[in-house]
Amino acid sequence: MTRLILATRNAGKITELRAILAEAGLDHELVGADAYPEIPDVKETGTTFAENALLKAHALAQATGLPAVADDSGLCVDILGGAPGIFSARWSGTHGDDQANLDLLLAQLGDIAPPHRAAHFACAAALALPDGTERVVEGRLPGTLRTTPAGTGGFGYDPILQLDGETRTCAELTPAEKNAISHRGKAFRGLVPVVRELLS
Ligand code: IMP
Repeated sequence: MTRLILATRNAGKITELRAILAEAGLDHELVGADAYPEIPDVKETGTTFAENALLKAHALAQATGLPAVADDSGLCVDILGGAPGIFSARWSGTHGDDQANLDLLLAQLGDIAPPHRAAHFACAAALALPDGTERVVEGRLPGTLRTTPAGTGGFGYDPILQLDGETRTCAELTPAEKNAISHRGKAFRGLVPVVRELLS
C-alpha cells in the first residue's frame, strides 16, 4: 500500500480526502502533516492558488520522501478582480480572523448591487512526488455575495456566499451537502485519476 501525506493539520480535510480516495476504490494510506511534527510549515510565497499548493506539496515530498498532496483555497470576487484570492485568510491583516475578513469584505462591497456581486470559492490541489513529478487540479464553487451574513455552519466566508441555483448560503448547508459540491471536493476528486496514473 502506498502512503500519501496531506499538507494540513486540519483533521476535517484529511477525513474528506480519505473518503474521496476510498469512494474511488484507492487503498492508499493517507496521513496528515501531524505525523511528521519535526517538518516546519512552508511559507505561502506563491502568487496563485496553484503555486502555493505546489510549493507545499513539493516541500513535504522532499522532506518525507513520500508522495504529497497539498491544497490552497480562497474566495475570488469578480468586481475586485479576483481578490481576496490568495489573501483570503489574511484580508483584514490578521491571519485567520474570519470575522474581521468577512466584515471588511462586506464593507468594501457596501454600494455594489446584487447583479455585480458574483464570486466563487476556488481551490487548487497539488500532488508532488519525491522525484519532482507534479500535477495540479483546480475546483470552483460559484455564487453571489449577500449583503448580510446568514447561517451558522462552515467557516470563513461561508455565511456570505449564496450558491448559484440555491437560496441558501454555504453556511446554511449541512457539511455533507457542502463537501459534495465544494471547490475543495472538486479539486480533490480531480486528483483521483492522477493518483491512479502516478501511484498505482
Ligand atoms: P485554506 O487554503 O484552506 O487555508 O483557506 C484559505 C482561506 O480561504 C480561509 O481562511 C477562508 O477565509 C477562505 N476559504 C477557503 N475555503 C473556504 C470555504 O469553503 N468556505 C469559506 N471560506 C473559505
